[in-house]
Amino acid sequence: MSDNKCPKCGAEFNEAACLFDCGSDIVCNEFLESLQCLRNQNAAKDEMIKKLQMVYCAGCGEGIVNRNDSDYADKMVEHITSCDKHPIIQLRNQNASLKMQLEIKEDACQGFIDGWGLARDKNAELRATLDAIYRDVEAAKEGE
Ligand SMILES: [Zn+2]
Ligand SMILES: [Zn+2]
Repeated sequence: MSDNKCPKCGAEFNEAACLFDCGSDIVCNEFLESLQCLRNQNAAKDEMIKKLQMVYCAGCGEGIVNRNDSDYADKMVEHITSCDKHPIIQLRNQNASLKMQLEIKEDACQGFIDGWGLARDKNAELRATLDAIYRDVEAAKEGE
């Protein structure tokens, strides 16, 4: 056996003991799987399953929570609402920024409306003044 690791669990080969660290042995080209080797394989599979059941953040890529955990939803919400890389937070920030821009635009618009109201009042005032002058001129003409 040229490979110095257990082909089943990856344990190192122990030269002194002349068997793998997991206890597995190779006798006459036959692989004898030890109980510890099976346990190692099981642990590796458990680890793999755990990884597959993990939910990863779409923003930072961090493993947030195991799907089977009872507080799965809470942990998800907790991470998503605090992770500044998560798309939801970015959308929320964008939304806040757009809201602020809208408020500024609305203020400007109100300013325009107010200005327009002032201009209209001024216009009515000038028209009244002109009408008065016109009437005076007409009266003066009639008096001639
Ligand atoms: Zn092994
Ligand atoms: Zn995240």
